[in-house]
Amino acid sequence: MKTAFITGVSGQDGAYLSKFLLEKGYRVTGLLPRRSTTSLWRLAYLGIEDEIELIDGDLLDLPSLIRTIKQARPDEVYNLAAQSFVGTSWQQPITTAKVTGMGVLHVLEAIRATDPGIKFYQASSSEMFGLVQQPIQSEETPFYPRSPYGVSKLFGHWMTKNYRESHQLYACSGILFNHESPLRGLEFVTRKVTDAVARIAAGQKHELRLGNIDAVRDWGYAGDYVEAIWLMLQQTDPDDYVIATGRSTTVREMCKVAFNHAGLNYEDYVVIDPTLYRPAEVDILLGNPAKAKEKLGWEAKTTLEQLIGMMVEADMKRVGCEVANKCKGSLGS
Ligand code: NDP
Ligand code: GDP
Repeated sequence: MKTAFITGVSGQDGAYLSKFLLEKGYRVTGLLPRRSTTSLWRLAYLGIEDEIELIDGDLLDLPSLIRTIKQARPDEVYNLAAQSFVGTSWQQPITTAKVTGMGVLHVLEAIRATDPGIKFYQASSSEMFGLVQQPIQSEETPFYPRSPYGVSKLFGHWMTKNYRESHQLYACSGILFNHESPLRGLEFVTRKVTDAVARIAAGQKHELRLGNIDAVRDWGYAGDYVEAIWLMLQQTDPDDYVIATGRSTTVREMCKVAFNHAGLNYEDYVVIDPTLYRPAEVDILLGNPAKAKEKLGWEAKTTLEQLIGMMVEADMKRVGCEVANKCKGSLGS
């Protein structure tokens, strides 16, 4: 039986990856930073809360990482923990640099100090492409990050490459394009939209305020993407991979799909709020997943319409549940 150690285990990807690995027969352990309220709603949503060994520690605290990795004795470490919201990274650039950037180095050092044979996955991001230097981004596209988040991810990305080349660690970076699910945080635009659609349909809300709806993203389903993450650590040699669908959609078009799913017209509800525009925007992201297809045999399975439909349905259930006052606050809403 293999053991995985996941940082960010309570996040969207941590939850889906845990479920995926448990189904593969892994022992799954995870780093759990102390929070004043429980952060385990995603694991509960997937019904796996009791199947994961959670170990108290924090990405910012190197001794705690060394101790937790020693305790977990993993074959594979997946570093998913981050301050992951681009918008917040302008409000908290130093925290973002510490957690999303330096945090990666802490994990790499903890692995080097405990067992350099441990395989390592780093959650890199398409946000590193930022002001895109090529219309379709692949592993060869130069980076140009546009936010403190993107800059911090780039530090972690290069550190991962550097530890692979300097210390011969089996260390991989997955350059993942946006991926969403019913477990996405409410601050991200897809979930903000699907939650609003559910509330508007229930008569609880009458408008949805958004920023730049002309921005273009390559959106996939998180449940598909965790398989690619795992596959990267099952190869003979470590490498970096772009994980994307290869399809681009505007925020406007995504809104249309979400509102249509509930029989509504987005134009009747969406209000453009200039205060929601970002100081520096990533206008367009579109990934080329050809290498992942060729080397990992991976490709995205879920269409945008299926993904957004699944998210609207889940939010409608949550809102219905809240109205009946049965599950208030327990499902990330
Ligand atoms: P989430 O925001 O859902 O999860 C982030 C996780 O990191 C949470 O479990 C959070 O715990 C944890 N965390 C934050 N700070 C610390 C800390 N100091 N110590 C330990 N854990 C901490 O992100 P996703 O699951 O969506 O993303 C996973 C990773 O993939 C992230 O690194 C993200 O930046 C990256 N990524 C995501 C993409 C996407 O579209 N989803 C695209 C590309 C990259 P808590 O909630 O308790 O703070
Ligand atoms: P990101 O790609 O990691 O920044 O993911 P987000 O879901 O936060 O944002 C995707 C795109 O939607 C960005 O270009 C945002 O500027 C745009 N957007 C427009 N309105 C909003 C909004 O109200 N909230 C968020 N989060 N993004 C918005």
